[in-house]
Amino acid sequence: MVFKKNYPNQLFHLALITAEEILGKSGLNAILNFAKLQKFIGNYPPDNMEMEHTSEDFARLTAGFIDVMGEKGARSLLFRGGVRAFEISHEQFPALFDLDGVEPENKVPEKMFDEFKRIYQIIVDASINMYGDIYKFYDCEEGVTLEMSPCIWCKDIKTEKPICFVQLGYQHGVTRWVLGKPAKVEEVECIAAGDDKCKFIIHRPK
Ligand SMILES: [Zn+2]
Repeated sequence: MVFKKNYPNQLFHLALITAEEILGKSGLNAILNFAKLQKFIGNYPPDNMEMEHTSEDFARLTAGFIDVMGEKGARSLLFRGGVRAFEISHEQFPALFDLDGVEPENKVPEKMFDEFKRIYQIIVDASINMYGDIYKFYDCEEGVTLEMSPCIWCKDIKTEKPICFVQLGYQHGVTRWVLGKPAKVEEVECIAAGDDKCKFIIHRPK
C-alpha cells in the first residue's frame, strides 16, 4: 500500500489553522521553524483543492511538535489538534471528507455504534481517495479497528510510544458528534514506535 504523492492545499490549510488555534501564532511559528516548514510562517496554504503537499509536510508537523514539546507533551496537543481538526473541517469544509449533508440517522441507542461505523466508512473512503490505499477498517471484539500503513502522521519519525494522536483526536471528535459523547479510542500499534502499522481501536460504548 502506498501514499498518493500529493494532497490538497485545503488539508494542510486545515492542519495549520488548527495548530494556530491550539498553540497561538508564536507557538505555531516555533514549531514551523523546528519542522523546517518556515515557508509557511505567515503564509498558510490557500483554502483550495490544488494538490501541492506531500506526506512529508504532515509528518514534519508531527516531528515539530515532538521537537518543541517533547514526546509526552506533543501527544496531548496532537490529540487536541485532531479533535479541533474534525470540528473545524466539519463546520467549514464538510466536503473534504465527504460529510456534506451527512447526518447521524438512526438514533436508537443500540444502533448508534452501527451509525458511527456507517459514517466513519464514508470518512475512510474519502481518506483513501486523498491519501491513497493505506487503510484497513474492520470490526473487532472491542468495536472497530482502523489500520494505516504507511502513515501520513509518523512517516520517518522514531518515538518511544505511539504518536499518531491527531488521528485519535479526530476519531474522538467523530464519535462525540455521532454518539453524543466520545467513545474510548486508543492507538495500540505505531510505526514510529517500531510496529509495522499504525493501529487504532475505537471502542463500542458499553
Ligand atoms: Zn502513524
